[in-house]
Amino acid sequence: MPKIANDPSRKTWITTTSDTDFPIQNIPFGVFLTPDDIITIGTRIGDTVIDLGALHQLGYFKNIPLTDDIFLQDTLNDFISDGQKTWRLVRNRIALLFAKENPELQEQKEHCQVVLFAIDEVEMQLPIQVGDFTDFYSSKEHATNVGSMFRDPENALLPNWTHLPVAYHGRSSSIISSGTAIHRPMGQIMPKNSTTPIFGASKYVDFELEMGFITTDANILGESISINEAEESIFGMVLLNDWSARDIQKWEYIPLGPFLSKNFATSISPWIITLDALQPFKCQGPDPIHEPLPYLQFSGKKSYDIQLEVAIQPPSQQETLVSKSNFKYLYWNMSQQLAHHTVNGCPVNSGDLMGSGTISGPTPDSYGSMLELTWKGENPLSLADGSTRRFIEDHDTVIMRGFCQNSETRIGFGEVKTELLPVFEKKNIKQEL
Ligand code: MN
Repeated sequence: MPKIANDPSRKTWITTTSDTDFPIQNIPFGVFLTPDDIITIGTRIGDTVIDLGALHQLGYFKNIPLTDDIFLQDTLNDFISDGQKTWRLVRNRIALLFAKENPELQEQKEHCQVVLFAIDEVEMQLPIQVGDFTDFYSSKEHATNVGSMFRDPENALLPNWTHLPVAYHGRSSSIISSGTAIHRPMGQIMPKNSTTPIFGASKYVDFELEMGFITTDANILGESISINEAEESIFGMVLLNDWSARDIQKWEYIPLGPFLSKNFATSISPWIITLDALQPFKCQGPDPIHEPLPYLQFSGKKSYDIQLEVAIQPPSQQETLVSKSNFKYLYWNMSQQLAHHTVNGCPVNSGDLMGSGTISGPTPDSYGSMLELTWKGENPLSLADGSTRRFIEDHDTVIMRGFCQNSETRIGFGEVKTELLPVFEKKNIKQEL
């Protein structure tokens, strides 16, 4: 099926600006709460949010085989289960419905009133119910930096790293949408020059600049997904901040990898950008250090040129850009990750989330965590308000943004924005007699 929704020459009758992340060529999917407190699935053009549940009820998708309530859900999981053919039919239909020359909906003013909202009027929700969350470790630069700091600069990459996409199973219960604040975690920490751990608040709370991809029901128990079919099972991508407590991590991670240092919060951006919308931005990835095993070999381009930024904003201050990176730096691409994840027959379901791992680039200003940007805190960063940061402080807000840009189109991800609050304090609710 042609991806007509990507036509760069299409214009829309919805008001947009030339620098929007959400031109009519994007057509992302998300879940939002309307001003009347109705939860619905929607898309976005410019700063206008479109209620797909209402559009479907009004009959605008009547030629597409969809169940009546497919968009009247609080998650996208069922729609994602419908598969790539349905995603394309819906995206193509939305593209035509909002095309400048099409009067079909444009002239139905009372329909427009029910279907269209300003972005400020709605409240974005977590777009998927995540059954399983896996976090990879696929940036060579990040793995090399961390290996150099904590082990040995001469042997920074462990021997398996160049042969397989290393990952761990994360936790889905603490995956949150942009705008949800988190608390500084407590945990066990081994103080420097000590032999017994203490219990306390993490002092080294960090972000990890990542992207996540979201799958459909890809395989059944025992079945694997071949690398050249893997992209058919990927619905789309989001920005992902894999919050990390470095002091807790350093003590707990041996031998099974991170646990409580990572599972207190993972923030994602609310709009899922489809893999179809990203097709114009496919590119070559890094050259392999050596040829991988056949199930990880692929033909064609499997990387994506997505520009990424991280900013820190202290309370009531302006934000400071602290890192600029790119998704294309990743050594292992999404197809390799999914082929590897399923090569043993592990089933992947609709709404599963796979994190890329911290996306660090080759230069120090492109590192994707404070751990690397400040080199374990040795070189603090200066912020615009004159303060300095080794790690993230209480009430700082971390903002990640991402976009693709060529001479014709900009496809953006919006942002994922999270404030770090102080340690959680249990409220003493005294019963009044
Ligand atoms: Mn991570």
